[in-house]
Amino acid sequence: MRIERDCVVYLRYTLRDGSGDVLEQVEQDEPFIYLHGYENIIPSLEEALDALEVGDRFDVHLEAEDAYGAYNRQFQQRVSRDEFPDDMELKSGMAFELIPEDEDAAALLGQAGAGLVFYIKEVGGDDVLIDANHPLAGKALRFEGEILEVRPATSDEKNHGHAHGPGAEQH
Ligand code: ZN
Repeated sequence: MRIERDCVVYLRYTLRDGSGDVLEQVEQDEPFIYLHGYENIIPSLEEALDALEVGDRFDVHLEAEDAYGAYNRQFQQRVSRDEFPDDMELKSGMAFELIPEDEDAAALLGQAGAGLVFYIKEVGGDDVLIDANHPLAGKALRFEGEILEVRPATSDEKNHGHAHGPGAEQH
């Protein structure tokens, strides 16, 4: 069957940035699984996969604007180390749900429209640089891969708006 809305799609792919560096490699034995037509993946990638079928290969180049958007330096904010639990080990690249007590930080990060997730960019002595840009913001992306399986979604999957099963949501 061809990929269309209400299909669950299994992919393997290699994700590279604009310089060709590999950012992510998803292999056949642990495929990426998603429900097609629900914007669970980047919309322009979803569009490119539309109507493909099992065995088809794809090579999709996305400019940053079509992927995770331009990088916006304003979405960075320095916050006190005290905002985080003492026993939490903070590392660059960690993602957090935003629970700001600082109203300015909340307002600034809210503008990013990135939902309520931010990333630790840099950990200093007393403060932490946080960033509401998606880690892939500002990067051109190239997804190269293959369609491994396409199946109709169950009614539960359609109701929930995501795929179920190993490698997807389990509940
Ligand atoms: Zn579900």
